[in-house]
Amino acid sequence: MSKILGIIGGGQLGMMITEAAKKMPEYISKVIVLDPTPNCPASQIGAEQIIADFKDKDAITELAKKSNIITYEIESGDSDVLKSVESMAEIEPSPETLRIIQDKFLQKTFLNKSNIPVPDFMKISSIFDLEEGLKKFGYPVLLKARRDAYDGRGNFKIETPEQIQKAYDYFNGQQLMLEKFVPFKMEVSVIAARNTKGQIKTYPLVENIHEENILRETIAPARVSNNVSKKAEAIASDTMRVLKGAGVFGIEMFVTQDDQIVINEIAPRVHNSGHHTLQSSETSQFEQHLRAILGLELGSTKLVHPTIMYNILGSKSFEGKYKQISLSESNVFLKMYGKEISKPLRKLGHFNLVANNEETIDHLLKNLESLKEKVITHPIN
Ligand code: AMP
Repeated sequence: MSKILGIIGGGQLGMMITEAAKKMPEYISKVIVLDPTPNCPASQIGAEQIIADFKDKDAITELAKKSNIITYEIESGDSDVLKSVESMAEIEPSPETLRIIQDKFLQKTFLNKSNIPVPDFMKISSIFDLEEGLKKFGYPVLLKARRDAYDGRGNFKIETPEQIQKAYDYFNGQQLMLEKFVPFKMEVSVIAARNTKGQIKTYPLVENIHEENILRETIAPARVSNNVSKKAEAIASDTMRVLKGAGVFGIEMFVTQDDQIVINEIAPRVHNSGHHTLQSSETSQFEQHLRAILGLELGSTKLVHPTIMYNILGSKSFEGKYKQISLSESNVFLKMYGKEISKPLRKLGHFNLVANNEETIDHLLKNLESLKEKVITHPIN
């Protein structure tokens, strides 16, 4: 029987899940998204929309009543509210998994207890704890907000004793944790999936390049040894085995100077570093997510073409309507998210630059340079 899918969040991730759902009418008859922005990206391609805040209890209840199965594209939903509607609709991944993941301290504690490698960390409840933590970890460290932080906005790097008070005050009473700084040689991630029957698959390791804490480029596959890829993919599988619930998860990791892997954080949803799969892989992460939550056999995660994903971010120098972006190269796949207004570093779209025949990542990196200029946003005068 074909199901009605509810998604908390109708931004670009909800939009690309909706696109995948439209290709599976035998399993999904309709998509409804809950999103506060009228005419959100998912609604522009045919999803019905409930306009409300992501944490609005009445709106989530309405979504649950109208849907057979609910998933999410953001991790800031209210896990208690989601738990309270579990009798009305199946929720995947489970609210319990969301509750653990959306609190960085609970997430790291859970991973640590499950013998999955994470950087040294501790809970911070006072400035005294912070001073003690610094004695234990040394400098530098990262003071992090436990919840509701994304794209690095909830982190403060402390490099000297003079910064302690400033860092503590920066968070204004939020719940905090402290983490030892990892002088990593590369940031990487694994997109992993687990279906409702417990089947697990991982995509090959990819390399992520950030700019001001926002993902800029993903290089698939990561330029690391086979050994490192295998180790990271095995850690991702172990992580999926201990987490409850079904779906696609984005598992961000650091490769240390001596080629060890530690997990930075997990996103319980499709992930920006998996957008390359739309063209590079036998199954896109969006289709895989649907297969996982519907309890279907997971698709092949084989990477068929080396690919670079480049995020199109709003120019730092203006906010407002922007000139249309187009690219005509045959091995470049542009996806804009239908956002009318550009804001500094706002994710407006991405493109995948896909290798032809014998092309290597080095070739792609060279070709990328000229494409970057073509996707700079310019204001409409
Ligand atoms: P987060 O929002 O916690 O994922 O952190 C955003 C970025 O901060 C990451 O992509 C890393 O570049 C950096 N970062 C976070 N935690 C650490 C750490 N323990 N050591 C070094 N860099 C980190």
